[in-house]
Amino acid sequence: MLKTMITGSLPRPTWLAPQNQISSVSLRLAVDTLPEGQDDAVRLAVFDQHEAGMDIVTDGEQRRRHYIWGLTEELSGIDFNRMVKKETRGGRYKTRIDVARVTGPICRPRSIFLDALRFLKQHTTQPVKITLPGPMTTADTLADEYYGEPRRLAADLAGVLNDEAHELAENGCDIIQFDEPCFNIYLDAVEEWGISTLEAAAEGVRAKTAVHICYGYGVPQVLAWKTTNTDWHHYHRTLPLLRTSTIDMISIECAASGVDPSVLELARGKDLMVGVIDVGTEDVETPATVAERIRAALPYVAPDKLYPCTDCGMIPRSRTAARGKMKALADGARLVRTELVSKTMAGIPRVGRPKK
Ligand code: ZN
Repeated sequence: MLKTMITGSLPRPTWLAPQNQISSVSLRLAVDTLPEGQDDAVRLAVFDQHEAGMDIVTDGEQRRRHYIWGLTEELSGIDFNRMVKKETRGGRYKTRIDVARVTGPICRPRSIFLDALRFLKQHTTQPVKITLPGPMTTADTLADEYYGEPRRLAADLAGVLNDEAHELAENGCDIIQFDEPCFNIYLDAVEEWGISTLEAAAEGVRAKTAVHICYGYGVPQVLAWKTTNTDWHHYHRTLPLLRTSTIDMISIECAASGVDPSVLELARGKDLMVGVIDVGTEDVETPATVAERIRAALPYVAPDKLYPCTDCGMIPRSRTAARGKMKALADGARLVRTELVSKTMAGIPRVGRPKK
């Protein structure tokens, strides 16, 4: 119970990419040294998770320039040569970012994350998770010049994601997580086609499937929105839909955003990854703070279905802070686990000597 993991990304070593760069990323290694450097970065990411005490391990997304580009750069029908500016996420964070253009039908010419999964499994004996960008969020992060409608683009993306997810599951991936921050934004579309498109991406996959819905990385424009927002009613629409969906696990950020853990009741019965680590600050939580956040979720989710987690990816953080936060996550979960075990033991009647 209370198995810990990170949402997905860890900061990259600064010899691989400058700290804090999350879009339009340029890697610091030349083409001939990059694969070796990425392997080494994954080794470090796995080592840091082992050392901190994570129960489920990822590759920290060390091989990707961006969590979505890791997929889209490998697909045909997408042009990265001439990118354009787009206001994504419904304009919520008031930023225009560089996005690639969709110029033809989306296809997956080859496996994308299979080698990364195999490398990860060579370096850990613990359960592993691979993250994939969800179809709605991926469509939102592209400039569509071919399909004409986001749902049509997302449907083809779901097709290639499903092929990818099947291959990962067949090769021993324990959890496949789809990142869908757009599920907190385009609520009508989530209801109309977002959930069914996500289910299509996960259809028939023989691994645990998860969806991560959050408010984005802990970067200034997101933090500005989070600190002023007080309206979390969207969970009353999305969580009941996800509760009856075929997706096994739901990941929700609860630490920094002020989301009341009582919304977790709306997803009762599902496995829940609950964000108990704020990814928007370098301050490292104490294990006691993490334990308090886990206890706050326990009235709404059974301990064997609760996975303490980070709010979102930690790529904008320093490596020191990320390591500290993972350790606090593991130590905080251990505190609560110990409490729960001793409570259970206290409830078991002691077997005495039979009376003569
Ligand atoms: Zn996130």
